[in-house]
Amino acid sequence: MNDNTLSYAGFTIGPINDVLKHARKTREMWFGSYFLSWYMEEFERELQKNNKINFLTPFIEKKENDRRAGLYPDRFVLTSEQSSDEVLNLIEKAGDETRKFFVDLIKGLDGKYGIKFFAKTDVDKILNGFLQTNIVVLPADGIQEDNAIEKFWNYLDATEEHRHFTLGKSEETCQRCKTLPSVATAEVMDGEKEKIWKLCPLCLLKLFALEIVDVQNKVSGRHRYPSTGEISAVELIEEYRTEDGWYRGSLKKYLEKHDEIDFNDKEFIEIVKNNTKIRCQEIKPYHKYIAILNADGDGIGNLVKKESESLQTSEMGNYINEFSKKLFQSGVDNFDLCSSYSSSVKDIGEPIYVGGDDVLAFLPVAYHTSDKRITTIIDVALALNTKFKELLGQDVGLSIGISIAYYKHPLAVTLEKSREMLFGIAKNQVGRDTLAIHLKKHSGNDAQVIFSFREPERLGQFNGLLKAILLSEEDLMGSIHYNLLRFKNLLIHIETTEQLTNFFDNNFSDQLKSGYTGIDYVKRMFELALGLDMRCSPVTDQKKAVKDVLDQLWFIKFLAGKEEE
Ligand SMILES: [Zn+2]
Repeated sequence: MNDNTLSYAGFTIGPINDVLKHARKTREMWFGSYFLSWYMEEFERELQKNNKINFLTPFIEKKENDRRAGLYPDRFVLTSEQSSDEVLNLIEKAGDETRKFFVDLIKGLDGKYGIKFFAKTDVDKILNGFLQTNIVVLPADGIQEDNAIEKFWNYLDATEEHRHFTLGKSEETCQRCKTLPSVATAEVMDGEKEKIWKLCPLCLLKLFALEIVDVQNKVSGRHRYPSTGEISAVELIEEYRTEDGWYRGSLKKYLEKHDEIDFNDKEFIEIVKNNTKIRCQEIKPYHKYIAILNADGDGIGNLVKKESESLQTSEMGNYINEFSKKLFQSGVDNFDLCSSYSSSVKDIGEPIYVGGDDVLAFLPVAYHTSDKRITTIIDVALALNTKFKELLGQDVGLSIGISIAYYKHPLAVTLEKSREMLFGIAKNQVGRDTLAIHLKKHSGNDAQVIFSFREPERLGQFNGLLKAILLSEEDLMGSIHYNLLRFKNLLIHIETTEQLTNFFDNNFSDQLKSGYTGIDYVKRMFELALGLDMRCSPVTDQKKAVKDVLDQLWFIKFLAGKEEE
């Protein structure tokens, strides 16, 4: 802050969970999240027109965000050379301007794509009632810059409230979210059929956003948001993709008829077979599974506290600006890593939100970079974690929750599971900095694995085995897992690497002779888990160590295996 600072202001917007929880299609979930971030960007740019305003957080890039993921968080803190009353007035005005921008976008849909408004004048009122915004403005006296951001987060969290929207007598609820009043009818594909839906302003926007030219321009010319099947099986169809996110030729015709891929459909199988450029022309079980990844930084608050201790008061403003800039850069890096699927090729994954240390993305489970090489979701998680620490130092961590589910599994349930993996499991481990993955099979079976990023070799071996299994023609994981399960009690009593080697030589000689590399990974996984390697910490619970590895093998067997199993 400089000597002229008269006031501080903080602002939050929501409700992010409400926006996401009704989403049934990927594009609804994407735009629900993207909308709030875009709203904040518009809002902040409106406020920046006033040169007496200085944002402490977030850092706002000069260039408009043209990525298809939100970069701007749901909150900001700023300082101003104006009085509290003036700042409050300014924020409220900018809020009205921003809302008007989006109301006009929604109203612009009238007459297009079978959309007919019957309550156009209510759009503004409904949007205003839905958005939960909280403003706190305080005079600068008595506020220390080093704890300003923390202080404002606390104030804003305390003022956040849950509002319930009550319908007027003549209004009907939106048939999509069943929450807000409807304002228009529209034609929406539901399965294979086109249906007429009564929709609220928000659902209209979520379903038709990419039909609006202003939105297309905002996200670098994208005209189509991929369905779950298009994301999970991206390697089968990317050869058909055009710059605007659509497809050409036979696949275009197919997707004009169907709103989702049917992997058993002969027509689709032919489309994949007929394009010889596709590296993997066989439909594998993992093509039918989509991953939702959620990430959140660990120890950020402590890092700021520690680093700012040695600073003079006059240096604080500069430090906070620099730190906000780093967090912004982290978002940009995370976008690139998710989109390129850990530096494979561009536009493989679909990052939804990459504000600061948070990540939300739709990703395929695996992706062939050549006939013999495959990148997995574990590689993406490792890359995100490594990059984050490169940027912010080794004192911080990045916990990641991933939920993998059948591509037709309800999207909101998969999202909720990924949040549970992140906040319920990964961030509850000692030392955090953890990866937790949940797999829900179409058959109803579950599997779950947890790895600390602080023990990279364990995760590396698991990933190595997963790749070996995904690349192999034969499905050997079933028999290996079955054999190990039989010898569970023997494994618990193994105390040296030599004993372990003998065990594998005796029981897996066939696989070892045939040069099957997967078995080496399995052996190494047990070696690490049982603490047989000198570099490993000793193991206190042998039984649990063996069970953990068996669970990990079960997970891989499930992920790579056929549906019937
Ligand atoms: Zn709705």
